[in-house]
Amino acid sequence: MIMGNQAIALGALCAGVNLAAGYPGTPSSEIIEFIAKYRKETGAYVEWSVNEKAAVEVAAGTSYAGGRTLVTMKQVGLNVASDPVMCLSYVGVKGGMVIVSADDPGPISSQTEQDTRHFASYSKLPCFDPSTPKEAFEMVQAAFEYSEKYHTPVLLRPTTRVDHAYQSMEIPSLPKAKEIAGFEKDSKRWVIFPRASFLNHQKIFERNLVTLPEDFSKSKFNYIEENGHPDGKKGIAASGISWEYVKEALSLIEAEHEGSTKNLTLMKIGTPYPFPEPTARDFLEKAQEVLVVEELDPILEDSLIYVAGKNHLPNTILGKNTGHIARAGENTVASVKEAIESFLGIEQTKEDSKADEIPPLPVRPPVLCAGCPHRASFYAVKQAMKKEKTVYCGDIGCYTLGNAAPLDMCDTCLCMGADITMAQGFFHAEPDRKCFSFIGDSTFFASGITGVVNAVYNQAKITLCILDNSTTAMTGHQPHPGTGLTMMGNAVEKISMEKILEAVGVSPVITVDAFNLKETVEAVKKASEAESVSAVIFKGPCIAIAQKLGFKAQAKMLVDDSKCIGCKKCISELGCPAITFSTDTKKALIEKSLCTGCTLCSQVCPVKAIVSEGGDK
Ligand code: SF4
Ligand code: SF4
Repeated sequence: MIMGNQAIALGALCAGVNLAAGYPGTPSSEIIEFIAKYRKETGAYVEWSVNEKAAVEVAAGTSYAGGRTLVTMKQVGLNVASDPVMCLSYVGVKGGMVIVSADDPGPISSQTEQDTRHFASYSKLPCFDPSTPKEAFEMVQAAFEYSEKYHTPVLLRPTTRVDHAYQSMEIPSLPKAKEIAGFEKDSKRWVIFPRASFLNHQKIFERNLVTLPEDFSKSKFNYIEENGHPDGKKGIAASGISWEYVKEALSLIEAEHEGSTKNLTLMKIGTPYPFPEPTARDFLEKAQEVLVVEELDPILEDSLIYVAGKNHLPNTILGKNTGHIARAGENTVASVKEAIESFLGIEQTKEDSKADEIPPLPVRPPVLCAGCPHRASFYAVKQAMKKEKTVYCGDIGCYTLGNAAPLDMCDTCLCMGADITMAQGFFHAEPDRKCFSFIGDSTFFASGITGVVNAVYNQAKITLCILDNSTTAMTGHQPHPGTGLTMMGNAVEKISMEKILEAVGVSPVITVDAFNLKETVEAVKKASEAESVSAVIFKGPCIAIAQKLGFKAQAKMLVDDSKCIGCKKCISELGCPAITFSTDTKKALIEKSLCTGCTLCSQVCPVKAIVSEGGDK
């Protein structure tokens, strides 16, 4: 069994990829990690770049030299990478370049539900949309071929359910990475002068309007299924995971209402841009009334409306625009089945009604883990800033969870790095407000440094809180420049955040142990009084990997019932999931299996009722 992201990685390895670079982001993160496992066997170079823009630019260098490159990111990462991606579209590549931008319908773990297929047409890059891990494996290899055939980067946009799905596949033997032909100097080709862009724009337009739609119509990834009845008057078009939902829903409907789906004509679209127009025209000539099943935006639907209009075809096209498919969020087999039943005029089955009766699962909001250093850091700032007029600008990472009660320490969260720059905006609007920004160590390197330079240069008075847990925790503990490890397996000099901050003029820069409450509160007070940009670096390892990072396990804490006065301060102020309250004894309780022995609660308890199991705290 292989995961979708591993299948994408495997496809790239089978294509002889020379370089893979990316920035971690759910649901795409496992691709780089899988390629790294095979770096020695194949000779591929692998890196976690500091951000998506850097990853694309690193890949561009290798592609210009003739090597094959894979760049991975989640959909919002494509916004960060958009500058080089847009330019590469005009300049082109020599060695094949495939950019994986994983979309997140729901969204499940993203800020937005943006659709990479829009970005494909905006940037004029061909786009593949896999339905299964196996198809993703095949598409990556095809994408490299198309990339080299048309000298353009190619997008692959899996969605979460494809990235994280498992499918059984035979693992092929892996070839060595391709021989690299080498860079040939040619400034007319590789320097993006306005005249060159003008000329290339015309070629790209022609390619996307005529050549690729025809080429893609011959591709095995776009096809029509006539279900044995070539004169079916109704049809369904789908792509990505929605195609699998359609197939499963149809087999369920057919089992319940034999013969009801026989007249349907289906169209599977694997290349949403450029749209395979000749195939789509054939489909629309066969099916007069069409239901389009897709997630995120109505890209296929709009494309089919365009093809129908262009060819004067009298089709009725239903989908998101008409409210027949949900306009936001994920599709499911059940939702697609319901939409198809309605499209076919079939009444809801008893089973469906029963399914509706199943009570929903209890809501379990995400919380910071027991023993998470971020809880201690947020608590320290909150204590230090009691009665002050403040704003707490958050960022993307585990620490966004600092917004939850009882901490309530994240007033804003926009996008990577925006905590620092937004705090500046608050300062310029309200100079009497204490403006704080909270950023993680990985995000600091990805998108924070330029914001700090901007703040110092433009003389903002803000306090930067770096929550340094020595990893990129939220996406699966990837290394970053502050960890001293690379994806090639090398231990390198750690890049010091303190030195960067001091070098650009941040003062003071105070580094503290996140779990020493007295020390952290004092540091925050001192930093907040500075008349310039100040910083507190809260050091505390992510508890999920603390021991792997070499930190000793701490003795767990327990509540001494003879001392506890039942004030609930440890619960109502911290929100550590390891602490509960006994309604029988009216005392706090610590769940031993969850407690990491971080000691924060013992520093908060007013009567010192929380002690170490070893008795020395
Ligand atoms: S803060 Fe201390 S006294 Fe209050 S409930 Fe918790 S353990 Fe008991
Ligand atoms: S020491 Fe206290 S705050 Fe830390 S994990 Fe254990 S119960 Fe939670």
